[in-house]
Amino acid sequence: MILAGIQKNSLIDYPGKVACVVFVAGCNFACPYCHNPDLALGRYPERISVDELIRFLQPRRLLLDGVVITGGEPTLTPMLAELCRAIRNLGLEIKLDTNGSRPDVLAQLMEERLVDYIAMDLKTAIEGYAPVLVADAVKPLIVQSIKLIKTGRVDYEFRTTCVRPFVDEQLIVPMAQAIEGARRYVLQPFRKALLLQPDFFGQANPSIPPRELKQLQTLAAPWVQQCLIRS
Ligand code: SF4
Repeated sequence: MILAGIQKNSLIDYPGKVACVVFVAGCNFACPYCHNPDLALGRYPERISVDELIRFLQPRRLLLDGVVITGGEPTLTPMLAELCRAIRNLGLEIKLDTNGSRPDVLAQLMEERLVDYIAMDLKTAIEGYAPVLVADAVKPLIVQSIKLIKTGRVDYEFRTTCVRPFVDEQLIVPMAQAIEGARRYVLQPFRKALLLQPDFFGQANPSIPPRELKQLQTLAAPWVQQCLIRS
């Protein structure tokens, strides 16, 4: 298994923890606003092996609280469980970022207690996932992952990058309803950067200003236990 790179430490990617971030290349989604096109397209900005990662983590394990495994989409990687076990053996906690398209993988990791925190992206209302973001057949898998995460014993958050036309004041309510009762729902502003499909937006500005983001939070809040804006 080859990893696309690491960020040695981060204070913002794992809530309340100092973490190393591990990037896994490849994704089954095609979010036009993806700001990590190289990773999504499976290109490797840097390549390190799991052994190299573990050798890097070993002497730092007492300085770190955990490791964030992100992508791309990490659940596409057949050896994800093995990677988690190797990190676990160092006594580090594990946060997994996912688009929710592989509930079978999530179930295995949760069953084996190989993850401590799951952050699942909710991209738009479930109906709107296909065909732009992903194939239609994936929609029920997203629903399955939401149910699994909500009913499981692993701490979690759902999160949304607020970008038009995938999120607006009409869509945010069915989105929040799709995760009704969730412990934590995090809204994140879209930051214009390198995009996977820059032509998708044409001349339109996909960003949502802070005042409207606050309005989205107000609309979503009644459906979840906690709704936050994270900048
Ligand atoms: S934003 Fe995430 S799910 Fe979407 S294409 Fe990029 S890596 Fe994949």
